[in-house]
Amino acid sequence: VAKNEGRNRFSYFTPALQEQVQKRIRLINDLRGALAGGQMRVYFQAIVDLSNGQIYKAEALLRWLHPLRGMVSPAEFIPLAEETRLIIEIGDWVFNESAAWVKRWRTHFMAHLQVSVNQSPVQFAKNNSNDQWLAYLHDQGLPGEAIVIEITESLLLDSDAEVKASLLKFRGQGVQIAIDDFGTGYSSLSYLKKFSIDYLKIDQSFIRNLAPGSSDMALTEAIIVMAHKLGLKVIAEGVETIEQRDLLIGAGCDFAQGYLFSKPVPPEEFELLIQAGLKSYD
Ligand code: C2E
Ligand code: MG
Ligand code: MG
Ligand code: MG
Repeated sequence: VAKNEGRNRFSYFTPALQEQVQKRIRLINDLRGALAGGQMRVYFQAIVDLSNGQIYKAEALLRWLHPLRGMVSPAEFIPLAEETRLIIEIGDWVFNESAAWVKRWRTHFMAHLQVSVNQSPVQFAKNNSNDQWLAYLHDQGLPGEAIVIEITESLLLDSDAEVKASLLKFRGQGVQIAIDDFGTGYSSLSYLKKFSIDYLKIDQSFIRNLAPGSSDMALTEAIIVMAHKLGLKVIAEGVETIEQRDLLIGAGCDFAQGYLFSKPVPPEEFELLIQAGLKSYD
């Protein structure tokens, strides 16, 4: 914690910090029982085609309803789940839930719906997890195209042959790959030619202040042009306003996701959305 210097060694370990450490330990303990305790939910957020406002995809987003603390943000508990490797068990559950729902929706409402699932590097490191996922899809009678795996740039940068083999195996079965939070990670783009990627998701930090003539606008346009030249589709994250949507349409962006269209909602509610079709367009 503090610099290891003489008498002052523990001087920064204040009661406030101690409280923070205790809270963290309690949260980790609670996380261990959360799945078995039925406290986890998978929510779904619509991803719309910008050419017509229709839902074609959804992202599965994990929610933890803590019995005392209420909703705990994934931003808070996913890092803890990764450190403790609980993310492996939790992630397998998210995948199975997502596959079961997309199976239902493709059967009854939307034959081409795709659901994207976030996968952290910790999950990727566990060798047979991806085989299990493919086996589960097969058991469900689902084609690979029903699923998109979202990974971050960092996975591809420190990647070894195993990551590459794993991605190839997914794509061999038709599963598509998206780079999440694109533009926030690293300046190297060389991985884009080394790996077979299907989508770039432009991070919401670029979308937030999108305005004509701004540097965010220039970067967004450049990302879209580059992606298209490489044969990739682009999904904009965190679209909240009609202005942002229209600037993205003007820039040739393919898909968008954000509160303008829908917040992440429980599966029963998402089902109503796809039944009704999105009415919020123009
Ligand atoms: P992400 O994958 O980049 O997900 C997008 C985040 O943006 C979600 O936050 C979503 O609720 C939020 N969002 C969507 N539209 C808007 C908008 O218009 N405005 C704003 N302000 N936010 C918007 P969420 O659900 O809190 O998840 C945070 C992160 O936690 C995710 O970022 C993802 O990295 C991670 N995560 C969530 N579920 C899972 C999971 O099942 N497995 C793993 N490994 N990570 C997950
Ligand atoms: Mg994501
Ligand atoms: Mg993202
Ligand atoms: Mg993110």
